[in-house]
Amino acid sequence: MRKEYNWHGCRVQITKKKVKHTNLRIRPEEPDVIRVSIPCSMKYEAVEQILNQPRILRWVEKYQKKASESLTKPEMQKEDKQKQMAFYREHLQKILPDLILKWERILGVRCNKVTIRDTRSQWGSCSIRSGNISISVWLGAFPEECIEYVVVHELTHLLETGHNARFYGILDQHYPKWRECRAQLKRGSF
Ligand SMILES: [Zn+2]
Repeated sequence: MRKEYNWHGCRVQITKKKVKHTNLRIRPEEPDVIRVSIPCSMKYEAVEQILNQPRILRWVEKYQKKASESLTKPEMQKEDKQKQMAFYREHLQKILPDLILKWERILGVRCNKVTIRDTRSQWGSCSIRSGNISISVWLGAFPEECIEYVVVHELTHLLETGHNARFYGILDQHYPKWRECRAQLKRGSF
């Protein structure tokens, strides 16, 4: 038996197990997934109460910050970096096509090509002339709503090239949580 729900931009996966106590785990390669195992007798709803305790919230935030920092350490082994890149690339390849299709429809734009690149200077970029979009492979470390924000941001450039009032007006109208997502990306950035 497993139940899943969203919590503060994380995916919480609850599994009932033959355990005495509740266990919380986050894997470094998936910092936005919180795995919780609970005793069979416990109600799923009780997990929400546990997670909403300030000390748990702090623990999760601290862990996620550490996980995103560990991606960026210069001394990171080459092999680890390759592995992580492959992991994030695969994740992005899985979710980007649907996100792009969804936002092309909403914004009424057409994206020509999407490339996933090993860039650390920016999360995404858009060539207005060619209609090509480039996404940083390291964006794959963030929750899906942040990835979606970058997609919306880059596709919005096909309507408005500058970061001006009109540009942010479009974001406000269609993706109001963009500010939160941008802040989260800044916190975890290189
Ligand atoms: Zn931009």
